[in-house]
Order: sequence, then structure tokens, then C-alpha cells
Amino acid sequence: RARYVSAIQDLGGTPLILPMTQDTKVIKGLLDLVDGLLLTGSGPDLDPALYGESKRFKFKIMSPERAGFELKLAQMAVDRDLPVFGVCGGMQVLNVAFGGTLVQDIASEVKGALAHQQKTAAVEPSHEIRVTHGSQLSKIVREPVVWVNSSHHQAIKSLGQGLVVNATAPDGVIEGLEHPECGFALGVQWHPEFLYRQDEHHRRLFEAFLKKAAQV
Ligand code: MN
Repeated sequence: RARYVSAIQDLGGTPLILPMTQDTKVIKGLLDLVDGLLLTGSGPDLDPALYGESKRFKFKIMSPERAGFELKLAQMAVDRDLPVFGVCGGMQVLNVAFGGTLVQDIASEVKGALAHQQKTAAVEPSHEIRVTHGSQLSKIVREPVVWVNSSHHQAIKSLGQGLVVNATAPDGVIEGLEHPECGFALGVQWHPEFLYRQDEHHRRLFEAFLKKAAQV
């Protein structure tokens, strides 16, 4: 996961990894220290109970400590209009933090789905996405279609309050979301931290986040 840190550092930011805590006062203090919040990908998935469902498929569940921390962080960061960038599982956290739900297993639940868990290396894009015209994402990437990598078996189902879709895969799977009322609260389902060195579209995502953070 060091690539998240490298991306922030390579593109002019100062990365700071936050220690996990459930204490709201401490989370407030942590957010006071930073100019932006990057919610990283996670590996294990959120417990479906967090969005009111029972677990229907086999997958690893994130510890309640990490889930609680990330959900609180996301809510409190958006509340104070701190720039928030969610990547993969981090985007799913952003959605669930605002009352959204997740597709628990794309292959089992989405008919005709693409292979969203690519077998090839993460530095190789594997499917395209269509960027929603007029979205903040479209102003960042400046292309209607972008090739992305894909390493997820879950996806956004219903959107959290205030969030809108900014990108979809050809099979209809949601690949990005954003909060139009916020300065920068944006998530992508792919992994730009593997692509920013070779592809300007993905570099611009981090640059847009860092530019907003620099204005805080
Ligand atoms: Mn995908």
C-alpha cells in the first residue's frame, strides 16, 4: 500500500498516516492536522450490517475498529468540507458513511459483469469507464472515456445522501462518485496510485486533490 504515500509525496504533498482510534475528540484533533483526507483501498470489505444487510457471500470483513474509524473520519472530514479523496474501498467507505449501500459481490449480483478483479498487473488498465459529462471528475480528467485498472469484487449499489455518480463501467457498475455540494469529496473505484506515473489522467486526480488541500 506504499503507493498511496508515494503518489502524495511524488506530486508535492506531505503524506501523513493517521493512527486508528474510535475517540471522536482524537479524530477531530487528527483532522485539525491535515489539509485533506485520502481514504485508501482496504483489502477486507465493510461488514454489510453497516448498511443494513446480512452477509450473503464469502469475503473477508474489515475489523470493526478500522471500519468505525474510517466511517467517522469520512463523515467528520466532509462535515468540515475538508478535501476527501476515496480510492476503491475508500470510496465505498465514503458512500456507506452517507447512508449508501454496496453490491456485496459483483460476479454474483450483476448480470453480464466485466471481470472487475483483473488477473493482470495493477499497472495495466483492464476496462474503460465513461465519465459523467459535467461532473467534477470530467473537469479533472478532461476525457469522456478513460482506461482504468480494476481490483474490486464489490461496488456501489445505492448512493449515499448528496452523492452522485461520476463514472460507470460498460456493464453499468459504478466506478466513481462525488458530492457536488462539497469543494472536493470524490471517490474512484479503480487504483490511480498504480497508474499516475504513466498516465496523466490518473496523475491529475491526485493533483486536483492536492490543489484543493493546498487551499485549506
Ligand atoms: Mn472496475
